[in-house]
Amino acid sequence: ENPQIASPIRTQAILNRYHLSAKKSLGQNFLTDLGVLDNIVEAAEITKDDNVIEIGPGIGGLTEQLAKAANKVLGFEIDANLLPVLDETLAPYDNVEIINQDILKANLPDIISQSFDSDKKLKVVANLPYYITTPIVMDLITGQTHFDAIVVMMQKEVAERINAKPSTKPYGSLSVIVQELNNVDISFIVPKTAFIPQPKVDSAIVKLTQRTDKPVEPFDQKAFISFVRGCFMHQRKTLWNNLQGVFGKTPEIKAEIKDVLAAVKIDAGVRPENLTVEQFVDLANAFHTLKN
Ligand code: SAM
Repeated sequence: ENPQIASPIRTQAILNRYHLSAKKSLGQNFLTDLGVLDNIVEAAEITKDDNVIEIGPGIGGLTEQLAKAANKVLGFEIDANLLPVLDETLAPYDNVEIINQDILKANLPDIISQSFDSDKKLKVVANLPYYITTPIVMDLITGQTHFDAIVVMMQKEVAERINAKPSTKPYGSLSVIVQELNNVDISFIVPKTAFIPQPKVDSAIVKLTQRTDKPVEPFDQKAFISFVRGCFMHQRKTLWNNLQGVFGKTPEIKAEIKDVLAAVKIDAGVRPENLTVEQFVDLANAFHTLKN
């Protein structure tokens, strides 16, 4: 009987036997702490009623734990060199499918309808490749697919930005955009010693679930996202300055901006970091109404 894939001994043996060295360029840091894997599966509340998408199965350590708990696991792995490894390590599990694709290029709705029964819940669970944490999270939360939960490991610093409250240092466009759509929960912190090779920074498990309690809704989601990014373009400047950067500086436009700020009762002199998520939605919607 083999020890679990993610145990340090088995991970090292697999890497040696296949002459693999973790590719930094693909963000390969393999988890070798079975306690952390248990915590991830628990945070995602995986049961046999769940289908799971995993991003970057690597050598299969997390995949194995997901396969035991879930109905089915679909893994997207970009590194073709890992396919023969996964074939072997995951051979005991008949509920795992691996697709050799870049997650950022995959057509998720099509693949999901081909690979999964639709009567189950759908969750994303992953130890993300850190060089593309933000684009992956943005794709997942703004795409067409509804996920019952997204539970992903990322750099602690990015987790703190996603979870930040207004008027704190890490609060920025990422906080506003993610929190407008999701409830955010930092399930726990993972020290860098839980990986082979060790990353430079500590990590955190973030759980995102779609919000059902929104007091206000952006009229146009795409426009809202670019509006928020525009407002934070110059973080040290006032909202007034940033809004001119977004819309323009002519006297007519300045007058319009003043009117909108008065209508939503926001002081032109505040900095973007002082606004709540709901204030950003109100503001974006007020400009949207003005222009349509
Ligand atoms: N799940 C494994 C674990 O927890 O030990 C490996 C996690 S490792 C941090 C990230 C994995 O994502 C690597 O296997 C890497 O090859 C893969 N990866 C990197 N970029 C990817 C992409 N664009 N699409 C899919 N997988 C990717």
